[in-house]
Amino acid sequence: MRARDVLAATAISASALLVAVGAIVALVLLAPGEDRPVFAGEPRFVVTWAEESGEIADEQRAMRRDGAVAGAVADLNRVVELPRHVEVRVRSCDFGTSFDGWDERIDLCVDESASARDELAEAGDPDPDATVLRIWRETVMHEAAHALVQLHDLEHEGSEEDLADSFAAWMLLRDGDVEDVDALVAAALQYDVWAGLYESDTSDGHSTDAVRAANYACWVLGAHPERAEELAPVDSLRVSRVPGCADELRRLERDWESRFELMDAGG
Ligand SMILES: [Zn+2]
Repeated sequence: MRARDVLAATAISASALLVAVGAIVALVLLAPGEDRPVFAGEPRFVVTWAEESGEIADEQRAMRRDGAVAGAVADLNRVVELPRHVEVRVRSCDFGTSFDGWDERIDLCVDESASARDELAEAGDPDPDATVLRIWRETVMHEAAHALVQLHDLEHEGSEEDLADSFAAWMLLRDGDVEDVDALVAAALQYDVWAGLYESDTSDGHSTDAVRAANYACWVLGAHPERAEELAPVDSLRVSRVPGCADELRRLERDWESRFELMDAGG
């Protein structure tokens, strides 16, 4: 073995050692129950509830009783097909509700309910408990869209965040179920509250809260003009846009229907 080869072999075994040490550290750092569960049967979205205590457990109980998360996931499983299971984990977390592309898992961070309730109450919402639960239904749909983009390699123009909002609107308006429409109305009103509370910031890839509020309000009105009074607080929705909302919604529906035809065809 030449000296250079010895050096290379030493480097390889050193890096192999580092990988091994890294794997051991990762195993040790993994909290019990944090490793990826294996789900049987046809691939689908699966709701799981992390074992929590105190206020977080109370929030989980309220969500479970309400059924919004389970209902949203059942609707998703009726409409979309998946190549692999996607866990929808209801849990406490520090990093914010998101789709974890590495583990292919949606984390719904229950901690966010309390702050959302306070903001909505402050803004004059007469029943912030109910509004927060409704918003979870929209959140599940939005995060599911990120999962679909990754698992189906969905091509799209514009930002993935806008696409995720349009998917949520499509899912929540397709059957005309009142709790679905309520969820989208609640999300529009929450974005409107956030638009007033926080600086408009698009650095996280999302449109501004004002734009998201206006989009949701417009698409709801496209299907349900009778909800106009509830959506009146959303002043980012320009009056001149409203007559075109039904057409906007139709375009959005056509886009999603054709994406799903492509998926069915293996595209
Ligand atoms: Zn998103």
